[in-house]
Amino acid sequence: MSEEKSLNFLEEIVEEDLDSGKYTSILTRFPPEPNGYLHIGHSKSICLNFGLALKYGGATNLRFDDTNPVTEETEYVDSIKEDIQWLGFKWEKELYASDYFDQLYLFAVSLINKGFAYVDDSSAEEIATQKGTPNEPGIESPYRNRPIEENLQLFEQMKNEEFADGSRVLRAKVDMNAPNMHMRDPIMYRIKHAHHHRTGDAWCIYPMYDFAHGQSDSIENITHSICTLEFIPHRPLYDWFIEKLSIFTSHQYEFARLNLTYTVMSKRKLLQLVNEGYVSSWDDPRMPTISAFRRRGYTPSSIRTFCDKIGVAKRDNLIDVSLLEFCIREELNQTALRVMAVLDPIKLIIDNYPVDQHEDLQGDPAPSGETRLLPFSNELWIEREDFMEVPAKKWFRLAPGMMVRLKNAYIVKCESFLKDDDGNITKIHCTYIPESKSGHDTSGFHVKGTIHWVSADHAATAEVRLYDRLFKVENPSSEEGDFKEYINPNSLHIIKKAYIEPSLTKASINQPYQFIRKGYFCLDKDSIPENLVFNRTVTLKDAWTKKVNN
Ligand code: ATP
Ligand code: MG
Repeated sequence: MSEEKSLNFLEEIVEEDLDSGKYTSILTRFPPEPNGYLHIGHSKSICLNFGLALKYGGATNLRFDDTNPVTEETEYVDSIKEDIQWLGFKWEKELYASDYFDQLYLFAVSLINKGFAYVDDSSAEEIATQKGTPNEPGIESPYRNRPIEENLQLFEQMKNEEFADGSRVLRAKVDMNAPNMHMRDPIMYRIKHAHHHRTGDAWCIYPMYDFAHGQSDSIENITHSICTLEFIPHRPLYDWFIEKLSIFTSHQYEFARLNLTYTVMSKRKLLQLVNEGYVSSWDDPRMPTISAFRRRGYTPSSIRTFCDKIGVAKRDNLIDVSLLEFCIREELNQTALRVMAVLDPIKLIIDNYPVDQHEDLQGDPAPSGETRLLPFSNELWIEREDFMEVPAKKWFRLAPGMMVRLKNAYIVKCESFLKDDDGNITKIHCTYIPESKSGHDTSGFHVKGTIHWVSADHAATAEVRLYDRLFKVENPSSEEGDFKEYINPNSLHIIKKAYIEPSLTKASINQPYQFIRKGYFCLDKDSIPENLVFNRTVTLKDAWTKKVNN
């Protein structure tokens, strides 16, 4: 028996609608505006829309909400498709709100004919003033009662490029006294002489979101149109247009946006980070975009698991990024190959190991059972932090006179060390115990610490990029002033020359690694054979379980 999980409120609605026979199958849609790359917040919406359809045998359309020609680009369309596929979902149809420009125009004409829309010559400022405030009623536009014929004529002229941008709009005739500001004669069409990424220069009037979205849902027979909470006040208008047009009744449902600590979740803000050079690109591994997580070594399943764990909320919340880190860490713990890499190297010399000798030791086997060899010699690189000149209490690593196990190799004892003129330790001299080789009977040796190492003669080098939070505060968008003031200046630490075990020269981009004691890593796409680059996906330290258990 599979574990019973309680239904989220959207699943409950869908089950009711199927049980009551309201629908025989469901159709959802994911409606991104192609004005940027998708972020992890979108993955919540993707998992929800595609997940519902998968669970109940329905389908999901991918619909690009491309009604604003000024901010939209084909590059974004391509990246959005790539990201959804990477997350593991298949859409039924690839559609564009711009596919419906002709139909939407006809809908608008039909509303004019029914007396539900009018052309307004007021300026943007005048319209804003007419709208009033939530506490005061609005004022009717002097153009509100234009004859239908005149409206039809003017709207056609708007379409025929006879007017300048901003000179006129088409407004819905709803109610200037409505308590809901969205119902105070909202704009349906505006004039924009701009090139559209798909329709080119065919149109100079473009529908507003509120007029395009619900009608697009209806044209496609979307049964459950799921969006985020900020659209709650738009719902009466969504329903109003559908009712006045007497077309297929789609229903809008709202859930809480996903927000994550230490980052921002808005394409507009992310675009600023890219354009102003705070990050190198949309897929800079510090970004919260899906492409950045992919590049950083996150897997589709870890993101899906995360979206599942956070559930579907009805109230806005801020999710701790350590939960996301927990999800990827759990997975990599199962799949990553354990290897050795020294990030902050210091030389260790084994005085009693013959200078011209080397041996190939057995590394830990991979989960697949595959083994690898670790060349060992008298000169090794170890981590600088694994040596202390004056050992602290409970120090089990190297210090003068102390012994430690070299992972998969021998036990060594520190005999002496050298310093340069500035007092920095430059070399550590040890002796090794030949009988202490890993894999043999070493029950007679009592050594508590194990450290990683690579053979100096055999190691390869690599650039290693360590990432920290992109922002210094949990919720930069809620702080005073510009969110960019809260950027963490130390979010990227580049190690130009780390020493890696030779097996890593054959690293491939989709293979996760655990650099023993240092975290989970993946090869970066910037890698070339002469300069391998590794990204730290996540550290080994689990802040999430600790938090939950406290
Ligand atoms: P942004 O401000 O980042 O551009 P948006 O809502 O304008 O966000 P769209 O491309 O219009 O982005 O969104 C596509 C779909 O994804 C919408 O249904 C939207 O509600 C949903 N979505 C966007 N951001 C989030 C989020 N943080 N959490 C959950 N769903 C989201
Ligand atoms: Mg948007």
